[in-house]
Amino acid sequence: MRGALGGPRVLLRRLREVMAEPVSAQERLDKIVVLIAANMVAEVCSVYVLRVDSTLELYATEGLKREAVHETVLRQDEGLVGLVASEANPINLSDAQGHPAFSYRPETGEEIYHSFLGVPILRAGNTLGVLVVQNRARRTYSEEEEEALQTTAMVLAEMIASGELLTLAKPGAEPAIRPRLHLTGAALAEGIALGHVVLHEPRVVVKDVIADDLQKEIRRLDEAIVTLRSDLDRMLERGEIAEGGEHREVLEAYRMFAHDQGWLHRLREAVMTGLTAEAAVERVQSDTRARMLRVTDPYLRERLHDLDDLGNRLMRLLMGQDHAPPREQLPDNAILVARSMGPAALLDYDRRKLRGLILEEGGPTSHVSIVARALGIAAVGEITNISGLVDAGDAIIVDGSTGDVHVRPPADIENAYRDRVKLRAGRQAQYRALRDKPCVTKDGEHISLMINAGLLVDLPHIAETGAAGIGLFRTELQFMIATTMPRISEQLSLYRAVLDAAGDKPVTFRTLDIGGDKVLPYMRQVEEENPALGWRAIRLGLDRPGLMRSQVRALLQAAAGRWLKVMFPMIATVAEFDQAKELVERELTYLRRHRHKLPERVEVGAMIEVPSLLYQLDELMERADFLSVGSNDLVQFLYAADRGNARVADRFDPISAPVLRALKDIIDKSRETGTPVTLCGELASKPIGALVLVALGYRSLSLTPTALGPVKALLLELDTKKAAALVCPLVEKPMKGVAIRQQLEAFAAAEGLPL
Ligand code: PEP
Ligand code: MG
Repeated sequence: MRGALGGPRVLLRRLREVMAEPVSAQERLDKIVVLIAANMVAEVCSVYVLRVDSTLELYATEGLKREAVHETVLRQDEGLVGLVASEANPINLSDAQGHPAFSYRPETGEEIYHSFLGVPILRAGNTLGVLVVQNRARRTYSEEEEEALQTTAMVLAEMIASGELLTLAKPGAEPAIRPRLHLTGAALAEGIALGHVVLHEPRVVVKDVIADDLQKEIRRLDEAIVTLRSDLDRMLERGEIAEGGEHREVLEAYRMFAHDQGWLHRLREAVMTGLTAEAAVERVQSDTRARMLRVTDPYLRERLHDLDDLGNRLMRLLMGQDHAPPREQLPDNAILVARSMGPAALLDYDRRKLRGLILEEGGPTSHVSIVARALGIAAVGEITNISGLVDAGDAIIVDGSTGDVHVRPPADIENAYRDRVKLRAGRQAQYRALRDKPCVTKDGEHISLMINAGLLVDLPHIAETGAAGIGLFRTELQFMIATTMPRISEQLSLYRAVLDAAGDKPVTFRTLDIGGDKVLPYMRQVEEENPALGWRAIRLGLDRPGLMRSQVRALLQAAAGRWLKVMFPMIATVAEFDQAKELVERELTYLRRHRHKLPERVEVGAMIEVPSLLYQLDELMERADFLSVGSNDLVQFLYAADRGNARVADRFDPISAPVLRALKDIIDKSRETGTPVTLCGELASKPIGALVLVALGYRSLSLTPTALGPVKALLLELDTKKAAALVCPLVEKPMKGVAIRQQLEAFAAAEGLPL
């Protein structure tokens, strides 16, 4: 091959003419392969299209045997063509037959061709097919030729995406432009939602791919880059946050890329091949996205995502589109799809229409998951490239209990999910019917069921669930979802709203539990080897008392004339508790001296989360007005197993002798001393957990709001004496070879308890 005749620009111009001709899809494809082969002086040019059944079908060829068209079908892992498709990367070989992946199909007659250049046909980072040129002579195609073929593939991508080829396909073997997909990620927030995709950051669809006037396109690109840079400078100066709700660091990464010479060079080069400025951005972006799918290093992925976002911004500037996607006009049953999202951005959407959320990133402890749970929307995370795989308006199902996502589901899957939704709704109605029923067990024991909360959006849950109060108000959530440190006045108004919503039901506020996995984006982070065991919660509060003092002051003022319960997280020694209590007393004295109205009563408590407290229970109960067991952390520290690390988090069962013995010691001591104890970790939110806790003697539990119904339904049917008679001896002397959980399940089945 002697090099491209007339270069890619001439080819693109000719392709545009062919695209405009009123001919059939097959004729158009046939003309395109002839044009490409002639322009690139190749003896063969073939187009393979990826089908919904994940195979690659030969749709057109110049040079191979014509009879093979629509007959040759390759698996996605078959041959060099399969390799180009599965890796979404070009392959350029002077001796294709010497490559281990080479596979010979006699019907094509390709054995006489030695050199091979195949490029993926990409759109939004997804492979739609493969474009190949071949020559008899053994030669390596130049980098320019590879670039030119990739540019040409963009035109084919538009043609495939337009649906024009559907007329050529056999049923069940259509081009995979809009395939049905079943994906599985991490379950973030309970619930099942059926609806339609709304893209958090809508993709920009480029219509004009081929440039009329290259100099004009270069000028447009340069001007857009200047605007992009000055927009970013302005946002950074004003301290604005990025459109996804991300923070300063992201904007700084954007700015760095906007000045990156390598990126700018690639964009200009793409224009010079004959593309419009926006198509050039898309072309470079396709490479970035394809790389993103292959990179596993989280830091690098993050940077590639930033670069991708920046490409979107640039494309919108070029196409004169507004930055902010419309958030008000959500369709009913909206399922939001985003690469990543800050909690504040999620709160911007109309909650009444939002049913589900799917993210490419975000684990169960991410802030956006916490907000999704508070809003009661089903959410799934860790679905790779979901924002590239779906289009706005696509039908989609999210199962937040299992982590399953079905894109464009077939009717039978949709019907099965509709049935499950009906079943759940029926169950919810049963739970609602229990709302006003006092929680008294079959043998007459009163159990106080409260809810855990932390945001304004949680407050309606008190009335909806009929909870006895808020057993744990996580004050750090307000800090975690904010973009700057909440002022005292903002804290005060949240605490007032919480107390107002609770009316005469008690609320236990926990002072700031930050550090560990709870990071504040605007606070300087201290690098620590083991943040969970580091400078966090009360440790940070006592060492930097300014923050804690102002919070306690806001709490005391909010509770003027009312009852205030406040507790401290991660207490490890009674001395820490004494110090924290003293801080509260000092604030009370201050307010008294300044003639502020004081709370009618202030109770001060500690969370039992650190195992060292198990050996200080006597001293602690002498000092504290109440205690609350944080079983999430207590179990994490007892078993030395990170609660956020999926590899070890499920390795140890909290319903096991060591944990239950610790929990029993606490409740026994509480009965002896008369110090009230609540348990507010996740253990109480599972019916089987609540069962074992009540059997051990716990009479006060604080749960995730959605768990209140199922737990109450179980407790109403429970005979606590029978449960205690089973559990207490087992905890003292577990049976060999049979897990306590198993025995509890058998007990529940025998008693007809709904687990
Ligand atoms: C706990 O540790 O059990 C708890 C309730 O606190 P958090 O989950 O907020 O750490
Ligand atoms: Mg905790």
